[in-house]
Amino acid sequence: MFKAILTTVFFLFLTCSFAFSQNTDAYTLLKAAHFYDSDKNAFLENQEVLIKDNRVVKVGVGLTVPPNTAILDFGNATITPGLIDAHSHILLEQQTDEPLAVDAMMLSSESRVLRAAKFARSYLDAGFTTIRDLGNSGQYLDREVQIAIENGYITGPRMLVSGPIIGSMDGQIDGIPLADFDRVSRQEYSMVSGVEEARKAVREHIARGVDVIKILAIGSRLVLSLDEMKAIVETAHSERIPVTAHCDRDWAAQNAIEAGVDGIEHAYGFKQPTLEKMVEKGIYVVPTYGSTETVRKFYETQNLPYTEEGLENNVAGWKKWIGELKSAGVIIVAGSDAYGDLKMARGDYAKQTIWGYADAGLSPEDVLQTATVNAATALGMKDRIGVIKENSFADLVVFEGNMKADFKKSIYEVKMVMKNGVVEWSK
Ligand SMILES: [Zn+2]
Repeated sequence: MFKAILTTVFFLFLTCSFAFSQNTDAYTLLKAAHFYDSDKNAFLENQEVLIKDNRVVKVGVGLTVPPNTAILDFGNATITPGLIDAHSHILLEQQTDEPLAVDAMMLSSESRVLRAAKFARSYLDAGFTTIRDLGNSGQYLDREVQIAIENGYITGPRMLVSGPIIGSMDGQIDGIPLADFDRVSRQEYSMVSGVEEARKAVREHIARGVDVIKILAIGSRLVLSLDEMKAIVETAHSERIPVTAHCDRDWAAQNAIEAGVDGIEHAYGFKQPTLEKMVEKGIYVVPTYGSTETVRKFYETQNLPYTEEGLENNVAGWKKWIGELKSAGVIIVAGSDAYGDLKMARGDYAKQTIWGYADAGLSPEDVLQTATVNAATALGMKDRIGVIKENSFADLVVFEGNMKADFKKSIYEVKMVMKNGVVEWSK
């Protein structure tokens, strides 16, 4: 009995001292010469950001702050909201000279999860405070990593996950020996045939805790039918879960659009009438575009010869396409689809997509918009992430220099990363 009382007193003391330490010096003020306001899609000067615990309290010039506020002055730097990659694959790494199936066949689930921890950390170091992981993650290994980050077992960005991608009976990993097709495809995908199986798959995903449903409008060969896609969208939406569709052919997009998906991944070569339909319905596109540098790395990892002119020709079509998406007025959401082993940190590789949008001619403001407020909206987290304003989560990044003046240099020079009010990395 005495021991029980002592234990209670001890825990009371712990609780009180914890609460006390939380209330002392909990305010932090960040200041820098430049600030990207994602709601206004504009760079502002000399803004200050007051943070308490994991939230932004106030943003403005010359803020009055409470006593004991810790002040972090970054001088001639740029503060932006934490970046968001809306299309990651942190459970996957494909060697550039091997079929996609090899990774899933050769590695245990445990190895994939441990490796994902490394990729998650790398994202954070690069300035991504949120990623949306879209499959090729075994059977809910993405949920395991998400839970590990939420519980603080490992450090990484906020994660939203899709669980296994729902497709018709073929998935999308080519290069599997026929004898292993069933085992590997079922390990990596959720394969359905018919409306009832489609509904059941969505319900299973939601029961396991996914944040988004990803479907294959077209897999390696097969397409989901319009009725199957409608059933998926209806079931997901009835539980307030969004649906995004992998689609890289214009003809295959028509049913996905009619079925009412919220977004389309890749969208290569979509024609003008398709883009117009997407604008009309408010369907966003995630152009998983690379960059000159990622193409260079691809050649280098395979010891293939290349010329600078050849690299430029390789990305010329992509650049034109980004311009077409922009002028069509479709909502662009940044997503890297980074999964190849390009011998560079995964977070830096993912950032090449953002760099590539700038290289394609988008202004620094428009590029940042794709990776902040547009992505937050697509993820159903508008006003909480992708923005620095009163009551948003304190997810932000400080980059060296004036990002508006020299975007392509500044975006690779991270000075500090804060996620949920915690400084995760600083130089
Ligand atoms: Zn992908």
